[in-house]
Amino acid sequence: MASKTPVGFIGLGNMGNPMAKNLMKHGYPLIIYDVFPDACKEFQDAGEQVVSSPADVAEKADRIITMLPTSINAIEAYSGANGILKKVKKGSLLIDSSTIDPAVSKELAKEVEKMGAVFMDAPVSGGVGAARSGNLTFMVGGVEDEFAAAQELLGCMGSNVVYCGAIGTGQAAKICNNMLLAISMIGTAEAMNLGIRLGLDPKLLAKILNMSSGRCWSSDSYNPVPGVMDGVPSANNYQGGFGATLMAKDLGLAQDSATSTKSPILLGSQAHQIYRMMCAKGYSKKDFSSVFQFLREEESF
Ligand code: NAD
Repeated sequence: MASKTPVGFIGLGNMGNPMAKNLMKHGYPLIIYDVFPDACKEFQDAGEQVVSSPADVAEKADRIITMLPTSINAIEAYSGANGILKKVKKGSLLIDSSTIDPAVSKELAKEVEKMGAVFMDAPVSGGVGAARSGNLTFMVGGVEDEFAAAQELLGCMGSNVVYCGAIGTGQAAKICNNMLLAISMIGTAEAMNLGIRLGLDPKLLAKILNMSSGRCWSSDSYNPVPGVMDGVPSANNYQGGFGATLMAKDLGLAQDSATSTKSPILLGSQAHQIYRMMCAKGYSKKDFSSVFQFLREEESF
């Protein structure tokens, strides 16, 4: 185990923190950077090496994982003044697990290739719980010959590592999944709210939906109505989980992709507007299942 070479990890937030810890559990020494120094503290205390820029990570590690909020953050970490590309070594493998615009992944891949290194997009599904337990699903795009090398690291953090095709296809799969998730969450929240107003007990209604054709992940594993399930954000005032801001961002990516491919996404567009409205009305830091609370409080609908 001690002979494993260091892995760089950039972006130690809600997801990056538990993902990096799973690499540590598998015996990989880490080279850590986050723009927010407090995010690095517990790794420093655990004896991992914390450096002061993405370029410094690239100088010390030839395999790097990035887990950043948005396309802009990823561009900064790779191509910024002190970005990875300033000091990346030839033959390095750079894996971006952030959910970003597939067009940005393609641009970054081109820049990385010019430096003699390899870039793969590998966004994740599964949330913070799956990140902690090492059960994420990784959707991987890039050169197929490099997939085995990526799988060695991603397999420490996820139970499903799926090769999707050329660069950007991992992001494409992720964007489609999250658009469907947003639509099904809003649908579940609407159905539960309507049933409650018709006099049904929410737990009974959820039980019936979950044994009927309306069942989905939002109804049976992540029910948005407080009191129906334990251990989900709706049971904890919608704290933790997957923020409404990040869902609005992913729906924006779906909207951009639909425009560029001339694909009709009538419900996806509507879901985008609903999550944007929620962010503007104070729900931005709450879990995305708080759309139920938003519907309850919006008397104007
Ligand atoms: P987060 O905001 O909790 O963490 C992001 C971290 O990146 C923060 O610590 C921030 O300081 C750091 N950062 C931002 N810009 C940086 C830069 N230029 N250089 C270095 N560090 C920088 O976000 P998260 O919830 O961990 O999500 C990360 C990505 O994973 C997002 O793209 C999100 O859409 C995706 N995702 C999140 C979840 C979830 O449940 N939270 C699930 C699946 C996918």
